Amino acid sequence: MEVIAVENLQKTFGTLEVIKDISFTVNKGEVLGIIGPSGSGKSTILRCITQLEQVTGGTIRICGEVLVTDIEHKEHRVSQYADKERQRLIGLKAGLVFQNFNLFPHFTVLRNITEAQVRVLHRTQKEAEEAALVLLEKMSLSSKAQAYPCELSGGQMQRVSIARALALNPEVLFFDEPTSALDPELTGEILRVIRSLADDKMTMVVVTHEMAFARDLCDRVIFMDNGVIVEQGNSQDLINNPSHERTKAFLSRFQ
Ligand code: ADP
Ligand code: MG
Repeated sequence: MEVIAVENLQKTFGTLEVIKDISFTVNKGEVLGIIGPSGSGKSTILRCITQLEQVTGGTIRICGEVLVTDIEHKEHRVSQYADKERQRLIGLKAGLVFQNFNLFPHFTVLRNITEAQVRVLHRTQKEAEEAALVLLEKMSLSSKAQAYPCELSGGQMQRVSIARALALNPEVLFFDEPTSALDPELTGEILRVIRSLADDKMTMVVVTHEMAFARDLCDRVIFMDNGVIVEQGNSQDLINNPSHERTKAFLSRFQ
């Protein structure tokens, strides 16, 4: 089953064409990696799918539901979004883990995880706390429930932000360079968490500069440059034997 379908996605900022014409799908239980140089549009794709940016063209479907598509309007193609309530419901299906964690500094770890459950899913405080404690246990952070973000390491903060995203039971989880703000020794703990989610068959899209991780964990990888997909394919094939010169040049920097 297709969880994410992106067709002919376009995004411009003023006159800057950041996403030119991008199409891809993600099936249930699949892990898709997105690699490419800085500025190629990777974050913008995740931000368009998770409704932090509005697209300028193309279609996005999440679990078969159309978030946005092009329609003819007075001889022009314009983007038509689903109505607000439907957008909200579709939004609940897609979680996003940010590069810089984006935790609330003045909330405890527990409250960071319960807040959206209560506000967005209308769970009771008790239900939200129970769900949060199960996730904290899974992230080996039970002892940090009452700590504040500033008392945690970067790796711990990122695990809290993963728990916060999981608490909303998304159908698909997006990670935007989840380890790039971390010291190398903390990177491993986050990659292990993502690996365990993959073992649980969580559908995920991971933007990453960790090439060995992309090769070994992802089912498929997309290589992007300059707002287009240069190539996509099986992760082992793409990373071990890229077919395009641009992909080869990019990957050679990681050897
Ligand atoms: P990546 O994540 O691959 O590094 P981004 O998606 O963050 O790339 O950015 C792609 C391009 O879009 C860059 O040139 C960036 O400067 C530009 N860009 C991103 N967000 C905005 C914005 N809000 N306004 C203007 N330009 C933006
Ligand atoms: Mg980015």
